[in-house]
Amino acid sequence: MLKVADIHTFYGNIEALKGVSIEISEGEIITLIGANGAGKSTTLMSICGITPPRSGEITFMDQPITNMKPDKIVSLGICQVPEGRRIFPYLTVTENLDMGAFLRKDKSEIKKDMEYIFELFPILAERRHQAGGTLSGGEQQMLAISRALMARPRLLLMDEPSLGLAPLIVKQIFEIIKKINTENNTTIFLVEQNANLALQVAHRGYVMENGRIVLSDEAGRLLSNEDIRKAYLGESI
Ligand code: ATP
Repeated sequence: MLKVADIHTFYGNIEALKGVSIEISEGEIITLIGANGAGKSTTLMSICGITPPRSGEITFMDQPITNMKPDKIVSLGICQVPEGRRIFPYLTVTENLDMGAFLRKDKSEIKKDMEYIFELFPILAERRHQAGGTLSGGEQQMLAISRALMARPRLLLMDEPSLGLAPLIVKQIFEIIKKINTENNTTIFLVEQNANLALQVAHRGYVMENGRIVLSDEAGRLLSNEDIRKAYLGESI
């Protein structure tokens, strides 16, 4: 579905991605783990056209998207839940969800999707007329995920959905990620510092260090890899 082939992405003279290659098949949950500053967010932003790579190629459903504008990439079915959520604080929950569907014209389907989201997150249904900025951190993360789902993405990019949330809420969010993948057949590319949880929901994982992919494997194998446990799962073996 998505093929990232040897991309190099720069901020001015700083080479943040030094030849990154990743492949994602339809229906998978793929996670990208790595330390602070490894280049995880830059990888997501390169895919969605916000910081396009200087060289290398990205293809989605066999179509090159390397230098496509972000809104065109969204219209092809790639949608991002950004780090730090970035919901619209002064718009209500419903208005935030409407914003997620702004490229769509199928009104009755939009209504159905909103009902599905309110089933997925009953708390958002309760708070549908409340301004986004008054929600708790966990609820804002639910809203950010829901807003992205309103675009009916084929591929959902998620940047650190667990950031700053209490453990119980994080558990709920990860259960929802699994549900979106299985019930909705949405392919998910998940960037996470919480490697333990990410590898528990993912099918496969990539490990990134200093702008390079240093390892990729089935998630279960990464979870039981001693080097990975030591470096990313906070265990001293
Ligand atoms: P984190 O988990 O902290 O978000 P990350 O793995 O997502 O880290 P990136 O944010 O992609 O890492 O950063 C990769 C590298 O690019 C880092 O060295 C970072 O300092 C640098 N970088 C990121 N954004 C910019 C920017 N706007 N201008 C200059 N350098 C940047």
